[in-house]
Amino acid sequence: MKHAALKGTVPITFVEPHTIAPYPTDTPAHDSHGRRIDYLRVSLTDRCNMRCVYCMPALGMHFAPRPELLSDDELLLVIRAAAAAGFRKLRLTGGEPTLRPNLVELIQAMKAIPGIEQIAMTTNALRLRKLAAPLKLAGLDRVNISIDSLDPVKFRQISRGGSLDEVWAGLHAADAAGLRPLKINAVIVRGMNDDEVLALAALTLQHPWEFRFIEVMPLTGVAGLAEAGVISSTELIARIEAHFGPLEPYGQDPADPARRYRILGAPGKLGFISAVTDPFCATCNRMRLTADGRLHLCLLRDNEVDLRAAIRNGATQAEVEQIIRHAIDLKPWGHGLPEGVLPRVRGMSELGG
Ligand code: SAM
Ligand code: SF4
Repeated sequence: MKHAALKGTVPITFVEPHTIAPYPTDTPAHDSHGRRIDYLRVSLTDRCNMRCVYCMPALGMHFAPRPELLSDDELLLVIRAAAAAGFRKLRLTGGEPTLRPNLVELIQAMKAIPGIEQIAMTTNALRLRKLAAPLKLAGLDRVNISIDSLDPVKFRQISRGGSLDEVWAGLHAADAAGLRPLKINAVIVRGMNDDEVLALAALTLQHPWEFRFIEVMPLTGVAGLAEAGVISSTELIARIEAHFGPLEPYGQDPADPARRYRILGAPGKLGFISAVTDPFCATCNRMRLTADGRLHLCLLRDNEVDLRAAIRNGATQAEVEQIIRHAIDLKPWGHGLPEGVLPRVRGMSELGG
């Protein structure tokens, strides 16, 4: 039996493995639109030690009780099944992934799984000062660090309490540990930090980092701020070019959603991620695993496939692989923001960006 259930308005598909046509296991999974899906973004927790205004609402956050989260063993079972289905790259995210207990051991175990070629992490860096070196040793390849402002007071306001000094210490620890190439993410919101775009871009004149500007997305809890505050990448590029001169396009990777450029002569790069105004659905290669064990099929849609229920009903690794292949088959073509379809159920802190 296969059926959809509603959690709020989310269509969650529960799959009993014997009910889905067996998918061939000798080829890496492609979705029904011909896209090869090989990049899994793994949310390790929905909790966070910051409360960024574009990510979480000020009030009313609900965090999943611990028994609802995948245990380490369940998570590793999913990653092994995903690797068998053809996933090659993992990104650990959250919430704040460095809050996950046993993170070092988990990364070690993930890196040992045949097929897993690269593990990256997106983090606010508050805990990296101490963790960067052990994480690198465990097998973490690189990190993306979120920095939305260079002004400590504004940074504290945007993150509702984060310390910019601690983030810089974490970033330098990551660099020293060899977690490279280092990428920095900034979500730009009109009236919040758009006055800092030139100063943020100028970091690439001094450092070989990639600085990525992300259009704010209207996820649950922050849709109002996102809709009022979105600034297109086109506008940001125009502002940066007006000051620094024409940007030089820099080697585009089709699987990378960022359009990449360089200020002439700069050692670093600029990336622009335009999920709202210029979606990259045609080259999408990713799926998301939520901390409570669901495959989230498209960041900006609500559809999910439940792996946790199958695992807790005794599904084997081969059966979980079949459900993952089925989920890939169900992956929607793209998001529906232009038609006014907004994700309603999960916030960004549950989905990991
Ligand atoms: N806590 C980690 C961090 O902040 O880097 C990882 C999780 S966070 C949800 C992942 C990424 O999503 C971050 O780069 C963050 O800036 C971005 N993000 C959060 N809310 C967003 C929104 N509404 N629109 C676009 N990006 C968002
Ligand atoms: Fe936490 Fe990252 Fe969301 Fe900020 S963006 S509240 S650091 S999960």
